[in-house]
Amino acid sequence: MKFIDNLSVAELQQIIKSNGESNYRADQIVEWLFKRGVYSYDQMSNIPLPLRDKLSTRYPITPFKEVSRESSLDGTIKFLFELSDGERIESVLLKDGDRFTGCISSQVGCRMGCTFCATFMSIGFKRNLTPAEIFKQVQYLRNEADKLFNTRLSNLVFMGMGEPLDNIDSLLQALDIILNDNYLGFSHRKVTVSTSGYLKNIDRLYRMETPVNLAVSINSPRQSVRKDIMPISNKYPLEELVKKLKTLELDKRKRITLEYILIDGVNDSLEDAKLFVKLIKGIKAKVNLIIYNSSEFTDFKEPDPKVVEKFQNYLIANKVSAFIRKRLGKDISAACGQLSGATKLQETDSQEADQ
Ligand code: SF4
Repeated sequence: MKFIDNLSVAELQQIIKSNGESNYRADQIVEWLFKRGVYSYDQMSNIPLPLRDKLSTRYPITPFKEVSRESSLDGTIKFLFELSDGERIESVLLKDGDRFTGCISSQVGCRMGCTFCATFMSIGFKRNLTPAEIFKQVQYLRNEADKLFNTRLSNLVFMGMGEPLDNIDSLLQALDIILNDNYLGFSHRKVTVSTSGYLKNIDRLYRMETPVNLAVSINSPRQSVRKDIMPISNKYPLEELVKKLKTLELDKRKRITLEYILIDGVNDSLEDAKLFVKLIKGIKAKVNLIIYNSSEFTDFKEPDPKVVEKFQNYLIANKVSAFIRKRLGKDISAACGQLSGATKLQETDSQEADQ
């Protein structure tokens, strides 16, 4: 079934007008769907009832329902949403001081097969999300940040469930709504798409009028290790990926974020740090070191804090900007690589949010 909010703005305006309605009316409906993010035609209070009835029968709105939420001690909140076919996804509202970031999913599960990843190990791959299922997560988190903390959701990271570049059409259509000042109005500087190295579609992301930030998970400087923990490296070898990253034309103020999940005994040695520094030379980048979060779905272990410190120090000593990512939401499995669609704390009242 084609839900109305999966149409592009132009297609949607066309449909409304072909029903004998004015441009003005079409704009009102577009605003309800893309800016406010309503869940039912009943909420469109300035649209005449007969038109609402007609549209609701022919063009339903994407169902999107919160099933449950968990709050972390550090203020992070993980939401579990149910989709039209009963599949479930997770999104996370991360609180870091005064700054709120939404961590958004792009697929139900993921088919990249990273062996350290709770998403893949727990549910495999089910399906791509539609554009509306992507931007509705943003609308929902934005409204919750406003309701709970009286603050703005300022940043977005596509680091939830799924490989965003494996669902590039939906991603780009959703970004049209997310970045448009008439709708969700996020700055391209505040949005980051994170990929495991899905080389084929990096160019499509960079063909956007104003490309968003790119984060790429490297996770090992050795192709032999990387292909074991990230099978995508068989298709797009590390060498090709790095070559691509060196040639990307970046906005003057932007750098690529290279992500490196440190896993005990797998990729955290000083030799790994040395090879990594060599590998990334020539990429305009900063490095995010992520301490692996153990999960029930894998046997990998967290690295020793001293090993992490040594790794970071080596990078810094060799003029690489290297940061250790804060471990927000760890106690509720909302940290990086921990989303599994398995949120089970109190089921909330059925919340077809009225906004
Ligand atoms: S780490 Fe990311 S790309 Fe890899 S399987 Fe998990 S969700 Fe997919």
